[in-house]
Amino acid sequence: MASIMLNNPWDRARSQLHSAVSHLKLPAAFIERMEKPDRVIEVSIPVKMDDGRKETFRGYRVQHNNIRGPYKGGLRYHPKVDMDEVKALAFWMTMKNAVVDVPFGGGKGGITVDPKKLSEGELERLTRGFARELAPYIGEEVDVPAPDVNTSPKIMSWFRDEYSKVVGKDSPAVVTGKPVGEGGSEGRVEATGLGGFYALMETMRLLGRRHNGLKVAIQGFGNVGSYLAGYMKEAGFRVVALSDSKGGLYVPNGIIDLSVVAACKEKSGKLAGCYCVGSVCDFSNMESLGGRDISSTETLTLPVDVVVPAALENAITEENANAVQASIILEMANGPTTEEADVILKKKHVTVIPDILANSGGVAVSYFEWYQNMHDEKWKKEDVLAKLKERMDTATQAVYENAKDYKVSLREAAYIVALKRLYDAA
Ligand code: GLU
Repeated sequence: MASIMLNNPWDRARSQLHSAVSHLKLPAAFIERMEKPDRVIEVSIPVKMDDGRKETFRGYRVQHNNIRGPYKGGLRYHPKVDMDEVKALAFWMTMKNAVVDVPFGGGKGGITVDPKKLSEGELERLTRGFARELAPYIGEEVDVPAPDVNTSPKIMSWFRDEYSKVVGKDSPAVVTGKPVGEGGSEGRVEATGLGGFYALMETMRLLGRRHNGLKVAIQGFGNVGSYLAGYMKEAGFRVVALSDSKGGLYVPNGIIDLSVVAACKEKSGKLAGCYCVGSVCDFSNMESLGGRDISSTETLTLPVDVVVPAALENAITEENANAVQASIILEMANGPTTEEADVILKKKHVTVIPDILANSGGVAVSYFEWYQNMHDEKWKKEDVLAKLKERMDTATQAVYENAKDYKVSLREAAYIVALKRLYDAA
């Protein structure tokens, strides 16, 4: 019973809040404010489908808190989206934006839909309908959405266009994560993966650990996992396992050419079977590479040094936490570890680099994009990436220092950093 409850992300978010506040002397009224989102919005989005039928989808936007600035956070298109998930994700955005120290509050939204089943036209009409429904509640200085699971720069571009039509004024800063030619920032696409890489490297430096040759397994090969894999390999890690929702591959000696594997996934729609030798990717190469097929969950318990959950919530649970062999977990997904799993990992002395730090690089560059739009500026990629590194390093150091001072895990320390900053701004 308890485990079912704690696997509800919103229950978990509140429980994380309470465990962090137990180390701080904060007034009850402030904690109560953090426990309750400022506003929850639920809308119906009727969409004309290609076959002429009308289908109605359910959309959500939760504005958790704006003490530190406009609500900020992505829009997720996924069949499992519901209000409790969006509430938790919005809460985590408030915390994340405080940890990485951007002047934003937290929000999140989504639609319960499997976008892979929609045509491009249907997806566009759905997005435009969502933008019309949310228009009264959002705005450049009010609430600024962005991409999340299954939402892309193109979707952000439709959203901005429709919102601008509704308000009668072009409003590029109403969303971030736009295509670079349409007000998007250089470096935004790779920002979450690169930010995670910086957080990992800085944590390892602070812990006095070497990274060269360490083995890595990554669950999730979307925008985040694919960029992160590239940066890690370039730095000398050995990427030995990759998976997506349909399964994946484990090659103990290391997956040689990530770009060929990515092209194979692009072509076949899945990673499974992408055993590549030269430019040829085929199951028949599996043996010569000494590889084998794995399931998405098996990725998390392989004999590796670093495990990266970069897909969805509740990936590491009490069922598989004991079987984790890695000494470092880099949480690139939001909420990938359940509370029971966290306790088990702590006992096993696994270093968990928490989501609200690890994946905050995306929203950090979203802030840079928003700032460029608001000030009519255009920054060079190298400048964006240098600013990203500075922010990730500073945030990682703050979390590490607080973990030492309070003798708590990096997760609790990240909440402590966030709550102190939120309280100071309240
Ligand atoms: N969806 C991303 C996240 O979970 C980015 C949010 C944003 O850029 O606003 O952090």
